[in-house]
Amino acid sequence: MNESCAYADISLPVPLEQAFTYRLPETLRHRVRPGCRLLVPFGPRKLTGFVLRVHGDAPATGTREALRLLDEEPVLDAHLLALGQWIASYYCAPLGEVLRGMAPLAGEVRRGKIYSLTDAGRDAARQFVTSTEPEDKVVRVLKLLETRPLTATWLTKKVEKATDALRSLEKRGFVQVEDVEAERDPLRASAARLRVEFIARPGELKLPKAERELLSYLELHPGDHNLAALEEAVKHASQAARALARKNLVSLRPENPASGSEQIRAPHLLNPHQQQAFDRIHAAIQAREFRPFLLQGVTGSGKTEIYLRAIETALAIGRSALLLVPEIALTPAVAGQFFHRFGDRVAILHSAFHDAERAEQWRRVRSGDAGVVVATRSGVFAPVQNLGLIVVDEEHDNSYKQQETPRYHGRDVAVVRAQAAGACVVLGSATPSLETRYNSERGKYALLELPERIEKRPMPEVELIDMRAEFLDTRKQATFSRHLVDAINERLKNGEQTMLLLNRRGFSSFVTCRSCGERLQCVNCSVTLTYHRRDRRMLCHYCEYAEKVPTHCPHCQSEHLQFVGTGSERVEEELHRHFATARIARMDRDTVSGKRHFESILSEFRAGNFDILVGTQMIAKGHDIPNVTLVGVVSADVGLGMPDFRAAERTFQLLTQAAGRAGRGDLPGIVLIQTINPEHYAIRCAAAQDYRMFYEKELQFRRLLRYPPFSALASVLVRDDKQEEALRRSTELGRLLDPAPEGLKILGPAEAQVPRLKAEYRYQLLIKATSRKRLNDTLNELRRFAADRKWNPATLVIDVDPVTLL
Ligand code: ADP
Ligand code: ZN
Ligand code: ZN
Repeated sequence: MNESCAYADISLPVPLEQAFTYRLPETLRHRVRPGCRLLVPFGPRKLTGFVLRVHGDAPATGTREALRLLDEEPVLDAHLLALGQWIASYYCAPLGEVLRGMAPLAGEVRRGKIYSLTDAGRDAARQFVTSTEPEDKVVRVLKLLETRPLTATWLTKKVEKATDALRSLEKRGFVQVEDVEAERDPLRASAARLRVEFIARPGELKLPKAERELLSYLELHPGDHNLAALEEAVKHASQAARALARKNLVSLRPENPASGSEQIRAPHLLNPHQQQAFDRIHAAIQAREFRPFLLQGVTGSGKTEIYLRAIETALAIGRSALLLVPEIALTPAVAGQFFHRFGDRVAILHSAFHDAERAEQWRRVRSGDAGVVVATRSGVFAPVQNLGLIVVDEEHDNSYKQQETPRYHGRDVAVVRAQAAGACVVLGSATPSLETRYNSERGKYALLELPERIEKRPMPEVELIDMRAEFLDTRKQATFSRHLVDAINERLKNGEQTMLLLNRRGFSSFVTCRSCGERLQCVNCSVTLTYHRRDRRMLCHYCEYAEKVPTHCPHCQSEHLQFVGTGSERVEEELHRHFATARIARMDRDTVSGKRHFESILSEFRAGNFDILVGTQMIAKGHDIPNVTLVGVVSADVGLGMPDFRAAERTFQLLTQAAGRAGRGDLPGIVLIQTINPEHYAIRCAAAQDYRMFYEKELQFRRLLRYPPFSALASVLVRDDKQEEALRRSTELGRLLDPAPEGLKILGPAEAQVPRLKAEYRYQLLIKATSRKRLNDTLNELRRFAADRKWNPATLVIDVDPVTLL
């Protein structure tokens, strides 16, 4: 028989480096191709892995047989497999985990624990059946398990604290646990061949809960949706949709209408700067070659219109386009622009989407039905065929960096992907990252500039308010300077809107004891707890630990507690006091529970239902609200104190972006920045809106200290719930790199900035290298060292090109 396809090398999501070879049963030969997923036995478990290679080389040792093929078509094509390999090597991450993270359908295979009774457990259960004792939770769990093996999730729904009961039963030898990978069928989508789309809000009409939920979901996800798929995301969607259709609030149409019903909106006429930039991009796309650009345009300069034109160009030559946007920026307003221009050729991929919906969009992309993909970070792995263009909007945004393994940077992966695909790539920003701008200075990326706002609208006027002088004048520790108060009052009088930026959630930043000076800390992390007044809790912003607001100092029992610092909650309260009649909305992670809520606050603000919007950095990003003529920054200093080499860069970007929200309509805008560091260059340059000056200054500092872009940087973190262990292991790594190999500079090991986080102790090494290769070799040496000593894989966290050192 055909032996050349009897074996498959599989990459499994385990922290081991090698691929594993499995024998293919007769029925699977010829069907298994690279990039398909296979279910295989691994130890006592079943795991899903990606096929890397199919071959006929019988391995020396015995192999096990693969169980099931999950995909008839490869989930990852050759390009994406190669991209995955690049990521694994560049970011020093296990290939199996990288590949799993690349496939959006991975959610269909769920890992879980199944509990079942042992023989002893069965005996015990039988005894209880005849007993007359009142049932406690242990007995109830036992009885439920007597019927069949069950998951903890299922049991928890039936019995409160079922997991405690399970633990105690396990200890007594009554139950056994089994790891399984339950499969969920992606094609469960019912036969409902209907598409549903948002038409209007209910206005005065009171809707039942299910209808309300569906309607706001649809409003948030523009375009039409398959109804069966919707049922996964919204309860009772099918029923609700029919009711809403009768009320004319949604439209219901059969699947696959003859033609797209979206009208195509006429594009803006480009201004000369836009035209110049676009011409270059246009030519690059037509050349069908890898050509990278930095599109640096001030806030409000019309970058989006250029993206839209570029995408049109790609489509016109029969290629597809991928647009990446930061996590928070993918609002319906943004998605809407693309729907209007490209109708049903658009697919939206967002991590907030439900599995089923994501899977559907993903299929549309792979089949080529959707030639335009708008996505957040992980969308860089969308199975776009025949890629001609990738745009990375707000390329400096930190949400492009994944903060778990694999810790890739979406922007950098986009450039690599474009290169492999022979596509044009456009990185857009008003405040490019130092690295990107540096790359353009060195000729790696071509620089395109939009130095002016659309229609020659003036840049907002920025004024710094020195809060030290304010204090000397007024002898009061006020949150708002007199000048800011006057400016807000003026806006209220004229019916214009104000945005206030404050980079701190909660009411006050921490609680300290006046008697012993102790600060109230999280039990799991070495950080202070934040006072949240509305829900009367002290909250850890790192691990979500919460406790009651103390009345006494836990250390010395003193009653003299002081609430220090200003959070967005306090700002909101003070605003109400200052401006009693103003309509005020607050937007931060406490008021915004989901994407839906975020957008509803924003769209109400846009509609003019609020006078003032106060919020954390989420309000600074990309929003285009014409009636905002004042942006106030309550304290520009919050981020500057961070012990992180990017602190200045982040502060500059945040202030510049925030300032960019002012005066985007016909009315000019002003920006007031309150600070106690008015001479700091990040703040001065942001006030002058002078990117160039900031760039030069910051570059000097980076060069001096050998930080990126003048070195390849990696952070190596060692963590463990026992402090001695974390310390010992980090010391071992430190010794391995002492003396530092040529071309490397090692900082640490030392306690991490947050020495204890989520109940783990953390020690950190920073490695600066003169070359990528040196860095990579060294990191791999550390990984081998850890693997040889059988460290738990979670112990060692390697972050290549970290965006934050915290
Ligand atoms: P940026 O992303 O550069 O901050 P936007 O792309 O949001 O700016 O554009 C700002 C505003 O200008 C948007 O409302 C957009 O519709 C409008 N706009 C863009 N290009 C033009 C043009 N050529 N003529 C008129 N208006 C334009
Ligand atoms: Zn005390
Ligand atoms: Zn904590």
